[in-house]
Amino acid sequence: MINGEFLMTFEYAPAPESRASVSIKSKYGHYIGGKFVAGEKHFRTINPATEEVLSSIALGGKKEVDAAVKAAKKALDMNWSKLSGRERGKYLFRIARILQERAREFAVLESLDNGKPIRESRDVDVPLAAAHFFYHAGWADKLEFAGVGTNAKAHGVVGQIIPWNFPLLMLAWKVAPALATGNTVVLKPAETTPLTALLFAEVCEQAGLPAGVVNILTGDGSTGALIVNHPGINKIAFTGSTEVGKIIAQSVAGTNKSVTLELGGKAANIVFEDAAIDESVEGIVNGIFFNQGHVCCAGSRLVIQESISDEFIKKLQKRMEKIRIGDPLDKNTDLGAINSRAQLEKIKDLSLAGDAEGAERWSPKCALPDKGFWFAPTIFTGVTQTHRIAREEIFGPVLSVLTFRTPQEGIDKANNTPFGLSAGIWSEKGSKVLWASQKLKAGVIWSNTFNRFDPTSPFGGYKESGWGREGGRHGLTAYLKGVAHE
Ligand code: ADP
Repeated sequence: MINGEFLMTFEYAPAPESRASVSIKSKYGHYIGGKFVAGEKHFRTINPATEEVLSSIALGGKKEVDAAVKAAKKALDMNWSKLSGRERGKYLFRIARILQERAREFAVLESLDNGKPIRESRDVDVPLAAAHFFYHAGWADKLEFAGVGTNAKAHGVVGQIIPWNFPLLMLAWKVAPALATGNTVVLKPAETTPLTALLFAEVCEQAGLPAGVVNILTGDGSTGALIVNHPGINKIAFTGSTEVGKIIAQSVAGTNKSVTLELGGKAANIVFEDAAIDESVEGIVNGIFFNQGHVCCAGSRLVIQESISDEFIKKLQKRMEKIRIGDPLDKNTDLGAINSRAQLEKIKDLSLAGDAEGAERWSPKCALPDKGFWFAPTIFTGVTQTHRIAREEIFGPVLSVLTFRTPQEGIDKANNTPFGLSAGIWSEKGSKVLWASQKLKAGVIWSNTFNRFDPTSPFGGYKESGWGREGGRHGLTAYLKGVAHE
């Protein structure tokens, strides 16, 4: 040890997770009414780390959407609405346990289709998905104690459209509360990541879930739009871009469909001069580089007090030099592949806008694989509030750094965004954390940590980040009508 620093570094030998637990069919149909039904048109899903074609996926059209909604309505009327909460809960408990039993298979499949590191799919996505089913299984027979009043009832058939950044986890956030409250489901996974949703169909079979309670339709935005506009759908739950969220809000205006939207973000991670620096550096890294920054609540703006900024950025750069990029199935990998070519182009375009508008770009030296979609972890310093990289969601491993002098200026900069999904506060002073958290306009605020998720805690946004909450007792109300206001 010299000057308090360890000089020894370790080279990590590759530690790839085996693909043996996963079997991928060459072609998939839709899961409708408890059966896989062949599709007419197809598209391909690929491994974004290698561009290897994984499978051919059915593209749902009007006929399939009609059939899925019909199956969900039949299951609701003939079966699901007649079951007690306790019976519904048993199915949810079974699903949760099967997800745990098949955890490795789900984690490997998720990393193959999405490009995220196995360390994250194994330790975050899959356990949290199971936890959402366990949590909501517990609510199914206790809804009368959830403070929702005595007239609360299921909406009926729920259309659910999810994105590609946490495919299985977003499915769990949607399906678990819908079933716990007595709804039946038509769910569409994103076009680049359909495989774990299709494997989930097998879990429904294994759990003995009555046919038609969960229907999985694959397809693209056109399939999503058909679900949104179908007259047999009583409620829409959407997670995705603010752009598509606005289209959905317009489509359901004037209908009696209920809607919840979980949209984009541009979260500020505010670091005050009295923060614990090393812990904050770790938190900032986790906030923006977790899941390649493909996180709607990612801490994509570092808003840092000027007095510590230079020292902090140096430490951050040093830490970023240690980020290991590469094979998502390698257990040592920290940063995996960008999910698609289209997303990579978007990240590149916005980063070029950062250069053009005068911000200063820095990335550690790192070798990126030749095949697949990759982007080095990047920070921009000297960012001002008018820069596009300070205002628009990049949805990639790119951090924009802004500075402030007084705490109030920090809050003003953090709130100067059309979004309001999440924020982070880094300070050793409890009174400052409480002061800042009251002033920040964001649905979720973490202090001295970031990107912590728990099924018991409501998640959702202000302003253009969306409508409604998911998770916790609040999230249940999104799936019930006639809820008493507290
Ligand atoms: P992202 O920008 O994260 O790719 P999108 O909002 O484009 O997010 O996609 C999220 C989900 O919404 C995907 O499942 C996609 O197929 C679906 N989708 C895209 N366009 C529409 C639309 N017009 N109506 C309904 N769903 C859509």
